[in-house]
Amino acid sequence: AKESGRNRLRLYELGLYERLREDRALEEALRRALTHQELRLMYQPQFDARDPDRLVGAEALLRWENPEKGTISPARFIPIAEKSDLITELSQRVVALLCEQLGAWRAVGLFSPPISFNVSPKDFRGEGVASGLFRSMARHDVTADQLQIEFTESALIEHSDIVNQEIHRLNAEGIELAIDDFGTGHSSLVNLKRFPLAELKIDKSFVDGLCDNERDEAIVRASLAMAQAFGLRTVAEGVESQQQLAWLQEHGCDRIQGFLLARPLEASSFQAMLRDIQNA
Ligand code: C2E
Ligand code: CA
Ligand code: CA
Ligand code: CA
Repeated sequence: AKESGRNRLRLYELGLYERLREDRALEEALRRALTHQELRLMYQPQFDARDPDRLVGAEALLRWENPEKGTISPARFIPIAEKSDLITELSQRVVALLCEQLGAWRAVGLFSPPISFNVSPKDFRGEGVASGLFRSMARHDVTADQLQIEFTESALIEHSDIVNQEIHRLNAEGIELAIDDFGTGHSSLVNLKRFPLAELKIDKSFVDGLCDNERDEAIVRASLAMAQAFGLRTVAEGVESQQQLAWLQEHGCDRIQGFLLARPLEASSFQAMLRDIQNA
């Protein structure tokens, strides 16, 4: 028994080692991806819950196409970037790509509703996301009302002066802030009070349970009530069924994002959607 225990331990160590090596390889590949233009953004439309034909916003989502490994999910590579210094560069790239795209659309007379992008908790440290963002905005003539920033509550845990300062700096420029994946992390009502938030995003994990899990329904109901009390707009993400949509409409959610209404779109498809709306 002792022997097999030792074998199990060795197998476990081997698994861990393999995993670390794979992470390391992915980190190196990601570094190359930044210089080889393997990263692009997709755009997932958001619609008015009261009028689900009406496009009211979109979320920019990062995609990595590697020549050897194929498409790699952000759920896999973002955590790796977060563990290294790469996340800062990655976030600056997202901001640059988004501003460039908004500038290109404007150049052909297309106007998009505000597009939100994701930042990591680490982006609030060091030089922060704001400086690079302001530079990209200036370069491509993008105004604050065209953008919105999503971050999770873990960014706020430290309550450090620098996070506070950065958030207020963005807000002072007129950039709206959204709290992402609400309820999944270390939620604190103090965050809703302390920071100048415009929007609260209800996580897919709770939306999944609507219409069959009373606890998930209770969480969503409470989140919506809280957002309303604090004057925040609400967005439900991961809406996949007509029943979920109906539930959210009935309970006063403002906006809907999910495969039921639209999947993340390539820039060209999102552009076609903008054109259709403008020509209508
Ligand atoms: P998130 O911020 O919660 O983004 C929503 C995710 O849910 C996206 O996955 C989106 O494609 C997916 N989704 C939306 N509606 C549905 C639906 O109806 N059904 C299903 N099954 N999924 C839906 P994605 O694009 O794979 O991104 C995963 C996560 O990676 C994001 O979760 C976000 O945390 C992170 N991420 C993506 N892009 C970026 C980025 O540019 N920067 C940073 N820091 N993180 C990013
Ligand atoms: Ca998000
Ligand atoms: Ca989210
Ligand atoms: Ca989520």
